[in-house]
Amino acid sequence: MNMRADIIRRFHAALPQVRGWIDQFLDSHADRARAVGTLGFARLSACFPQELLERAKVASVDGITLKDTFSLQQGRASEALHFHELVHVVQLSRLGVDNFLLAYGLGLFSFGYAKSPLEQMAYTLQRGFELGTLPRGLVHVIEQATDAIWNQAAPIVQGPYGGA
Ligand SMILES: [Zn+2]
Repeated sequence: MNMRADIIRRFHAALPQVRGWIDQFLDSHADRARAVGTLGFARLSACFPQELLERAKVASVDGITLKDTFSLQQGRASEALHFHELVHVVQLSRLGVDNFLLAYGLGLFSFGYAKSPLEQMAYTLQRGFELGTLPRGLVHVIEQATDAIWNQAAPIVQGPYGGA
């Protein structure tokens, strides 16, 4: 028996439920969500396009990113943490919810949290943000790196269970 294939099959089967849960969560927290662009983080405006900062919202719950909304525990809301979560928003926009969940899940399963490729990208870029050594064309860099991660993941997670 191929354990990974079995896990991926279950993951696909769970996707509609996960999507429903995400939408429900976002609905119930919509009143507490604020656009990142309204928070007065000047350096984020230098990194990300205004459109993204107006679309991406933050809700004070506890550290996750869902579609275009992320949540952070109160008191930990540094500009660098917002930056980290915005990297995930770009990854998510690039892949769409289902493929992001599949690629993220595969990364966790294969490498663990800190070494999962989508997290590693976010942490590496966050460090660049803190040190002031970010590459030019940040969004493009994230999109290219996300595509590379997806190209690795797709043959594994799509398998015979992929498609709509
Ligand atoms: Zn992260």
